[in-house]
Amino acid sequence: MKIVVQKFGGTSVADTERISAIAERIAATCADGYSVVVVVSAMAGETDRLLTLAKAFAEQPRGRELDVLLSTGEQVTIALLAMALNKIGMSAVSYTGSQVQILTDKVHNKARIVRIDDANVLGDLERGRVVVVAGFQGVDEAGNITTLGRGGSDTTAVALAAALKADECQIYTDVDGVYTTDPRIVPEARRLERVTYEEMLEMASLGAKVLQIRSVEFASKYKVNLRVLSSFESGQGTLITAEENIMEQALISGVTLNRDEAQLVLTGVPDRPGVASNILGPVAAANIEVDMILQNTGADGATDFTFTVHRNDYDQALEILERLAIEMNARGVTGDKTIVKISIVGVGMRSHAGIAARMFRALADESINIRMISTSEIKISVVVDEKYSELGVRSLHSEFGLENELESN
Ligand code: ADP
Ligand code: ASP
Ligand code: MG
Repeated sequence: MKIVVQKFGGTSVADTERISAIAERIAATCADGYSVVVVVSAMAGETDRLLTLAKAFAEQPRGRELDVLLSTGEQVTIALLAMALNKIGMSAVSYTGSQVQILTDKVHNKARIVRIDDANVLGDLERGRVVVVAGFQGVDEAGNITTLGRGGSDTTAVALAAALKADECQIYTDVDGVYTTDPRIVPEARRLERVTYEEMLEMASLGAKVLQIRSVEFASKYKVNLRVLSSFESGQGTLITAEENIMEQALISGVTLNRDEAQLVLTGVPDRPGVASNILGPVAAANIEVDMILQNTGADGATDFTFTVHRNDYDQALEILERLAIEMNARGVTGDKTIVKISIVGVGMRSHAGIAARMFRALADESINIRMISTSEIKISVVVDEKYSELGVRSLHSEFGLENELESN
């Protein structure tokens, strides 16, 4: 049995006409001899609408009941798509996450998939049915509904493809592939034919929300051939695959922008062993993830300790720092929510020196001040003022010639 998993995002199931259109696309894939498992998101805007309803009762809704609420969005689309398939003569059956079963841990709102019971799905495929599964949701061992975090339907699709050993996992969305940067910011952005798991993982982690990070982690771990395609046009899309499957490797594959971060600084901390752990310990204890970290030592033996967190965690992190400033006898605390992180990503960077210098020069030429820097083997990130978001991304995109065909950068 040749199995393919096809995932359709919110815009692809935005109304009943679009649902009819994807039913036709699925039927065409079946006609090509594939057994098809479909994963769908909620209709465009539905998850946000549900979240707004919850905000009537809590400033930052979270927990078990939020999952019960948010999972309803996907339950609507699986039923509608199964009906649309039936209408054109296809045999189809819909499943919620708990019906499949997609077993997760019990961390509500950002659960991780631990196991998929594929017996039901395989049985239906063998009987010639199209199986339509609700994305973004699962069930914990106690039977509670869980959700996988925003964009989580991508992860449902890849995890199913891994469990079923599918030939390919196809992510249908409103762009025709993964681009060198968000095409909404840089119209000259170019579609990548192929990109490595590693680069895609960095791009997703650094702000390219075209795929949820965990879906790429899964794909890389289980070597799932993952393809991003448009649900509105035909084309090859972008294949996310292992490095050995890519012949020509560009120096830089993409530029990303992350608007979700905020910066905090504890100034004038007496510099002695243990400073970093004394500050980050209480932050970690509050379940706040820290991204970039910078520590400078001044001539007076005091140090400034700077780090970034998700904007949603900013207020809580600021409170913790204000308390620590008193305890640690620091000079003070400052914070800034109007920052962004811009990054360049590419496996080609491993074997080339001077990329960072080129990046910093391009930003300096636009008079963009760099506030923080961090690097890894295949990425360089900088924090800059929010007002330079678009200018920064555009200047780096053009510095590395990303609008041109491969190898020119
Ligand atoms: P879906 O609802 O289908 O899951 P998403 O909105 O989650 O779709 O993801 C698609 C969007 O990701 C595109 O509309 C695009 O604006 C954005 N995006 C960000 N970075 C990139 C990139 N590098 N390549 C392609 N799309 C990107
Ligand atoms: N509906 C969920 C969201 O909007 C999951 C998804 O679309 O992937 O985040
Ligand atoms: Mg998405």
